[in-house]
Amino acid sequence: MLGHAAQALGHTCRFLDPAENPPAALVGETIRADYDDSAALCELAAASDVVTYEFENVPVDALQTLAPRTVLYPPPDALRLAQDRLSEKQLFEKLGIPVPPYQIVDSREDLVATIATLGFPAVLKTRRYGYDGKGQFVIRDGGDLDSAWTLLGGRPLIAEAWVPFEREVSIIGARARDGSTRTWPLTENRHTDGILRVSLAPVDDAALERVAVRYMHLLLDQLDYVGVLTLELFVSGNGLLANEFAPRVHNSGHWTIEGAATSQFENHVRAVCGAPLGSTRCRDFVGMVNLIGLIPAAIRALPDPRTTLHDYGKTARAGRKLGHVTVVAPTAAERDRLVADLDHIVNQTEDLQGLLP
Ligand code: AMP
Repeated sequence: MLGHAAQALGHTCRFLDPAENPPAALVGETIRADYDDSAALCELAAASDVVTYEFENVPVDALQTLAPRTVLYPPPDALRLAQDRLSEKQLFEKLGIPVPPYQIVDSREDLVATIATLGFPAVLKTRRYGYDGKGQFVIRDGGDLDSAWTLLGGRPLIAEAWVPFEREVSIIGARARDGSTRTWPLTENRHTDGILRVSLAPVDDAALERVAVRYMHLLLDQLDYVGVLTLELFVSGNGLLANEFAPRVHNSGHWTIEGAATSQFENHVRAVCGAPLGSTRCRDFVGMVNLIGLIPAAIRALPDPRTTLHDYGKTARAGRKLGHVTVVAPTAAERDRLVADLDHIVNQTEDLQGLLP
């Protein structure tokens, strides 16, 4: 999707990806190599005016190889801080952005002591390489401690208090090379088993959005950021609590392709290439439904002009995000009805095929 946006702006793209036939191959030449292949990184840098990344598990060392050889955004430090849940939380705390109560867990004894402080339920998480709910275990009572430790022990971990959130939201912002910033309207996100299923925008709560936008500006400026950054938040009785940030375009912003004056992808390309940012105004009421594990035939055949299907061209696998559908409607009620219909089709097909992990 970044590639499509770059093409539309007149750029030519080249991609580095270890996968055999990555979705990006539809948009430009691909160099098939591991992210830590320094010859491939040097080839990419030599052939590019600007390099960017949109995958959180790219090693920071790869960015250190690229940085002296080309123009590279977002700054490697943003990726370094986002890759470890501890440094991420410490950054939030330094900026005065509230986070759920948490503790470092390095041993089974730490886990027992931590749970005694945090109480039940709590979430044990690997500090690195977690995504879509992977690398996490919800500890509901003392009986779960052994299973949690068996599954995740031996790696650097943190435990968080379970947040009884009212809803989850994300704020997506873009910062240009000259420091100017834009944010898209606040988005509500609904997850199942840690995987994003549905996003809805805009969230009708100006006070909440003001706080989220303030947090976004603090992060963007602190990181001297260039590109698109996403902040995921819990809306709780204690106000907004930061869950995590991603130094990249985000699944909860996929709706911006049809639903905003300028998409997150276009503004990311604009930012890293030194162009001015476009308007992030929302068009009507927007919803996005993820297609996970398969793309149902009934969704492929969608005749409704208010809906748009994006098929990423990935090989189907249980739990894998293969595409999404966007809905743009003139009223929130109409948007909600369309999203519910789509969600129903997706859930029904998943149930039939046992496709959820
Ligand atoms: P994460 O990978 O940390 O974004 O977690 C994935 C999802 O798990 C979140 O979007 C929440 O739905 C849920 N989750 C993670 N941590 C917590 C928590 N401390 N309290 C409640 N829900 C959580």
